[in-house]
Amino acid sequence: MIFPSNIRLTLYPLAAAIIFSCISPQASAQLSTQTQVRQNPVMEVRDRTVGNHVDIWAYPLTVTECTFDLECTAQNMRLDRSVPYTIEIRTPPQNLRKPICVLNADIVDPNDRYRYDYKYSWRIGLRGGRHDDSYVYALPFAAGTAHKVMQGYGGKFSHQVGSDGENAIDFEMPDGTQVLAARDGIVVAIKDDSTEGGNDKQRYEKCANYVTVKHVDGSYADYVHLTAGSCTVRLGQVVRTGQVLGQSGHSGFASAPHLHFIVFIPVSGSHRRSYRTRFATASGLVCDPPRGQILEAQPR
Ligand SMILES: [Zn+2]
Repeated sequence: MIFPSNIRLTLYPLAAAIIFSCISPQASAQLSTQTQVRQNPVMEVRDRTVGNHVDIWAYPLTVTECTFDLECTAQNMRLDRSVPYTIEIRTPPQNLRKPICVLNADIVDPNDRYRYDYKYSWRIGLRGGRHDDSYVYALPFAAGTAHKVMQGYGGKFSHQVGSDGENAIDFEMPDGTQVLAARDGIVVAIKDDSTEGGNDKQRYEKCANYVTVKHVDGSYADYVHLTAGSCTVRLGQVVRTGQVLGQSGHSGFASAPHLHFIVFIPVSGSHRRSYRTRFATASGLVCDPPRGQILEAQPR
């Protein structure tokens, strides 16, 4: 029987860690999302049994680069690699939805009981980048406009020190405000279909729309809480600083309309490191804007 024995959700809607178990004989059951709003996944993982063989497959749907962790325990089964392990999955946009095998296993004695349990988690992006801390980012909104910092680095609401989102900034921003690329890069992940959002973390944390852009130093920027259907870029597209990515909103876990901006590099499939960024503003260089500070974007 295939069933979710547990579902763990991350702080941000960018990845999930899920545990599955299988005990012979085979059967299937629908996944339950408990109190969460059902959302179209950015990545799917499925297992399959054919005869005495079991395989597990990842299906990147709207993400072209990710780091994937897999743990598995098995009884009366031979696995094709040692576990746990971490792999990088890189998929050209034209190959999205093609499955990638992440584990093969054979039942050793088909006449005996067998069992396997697996848990996976993943994060957008590939490991190995080195963030250029000297780089000066543009503000992610139009020149001449100004927005207040709702929550800065280490903010107690959802940017807690030690969390994956520690070095994020939330800009107060009415729904429908143009969100601009803060740095040149290439689009590696998009979610653009969610109309759900609110102040209930458990219910909405997987519901945020976002665009993720990879930079030349191997770091990534997330632009989060966008309005459904507003995304104006496509996966694999090269974007330039100041280019419109979409419109702000309040999709996902958001107490009010805002833009959540963060630069990060994944450390594993279950953790990423975030980086403080320097911004060029109309009044000069800003490094660590506190909550309440209003920043005006510099003319380009
Ligand atoms: Zn935030």
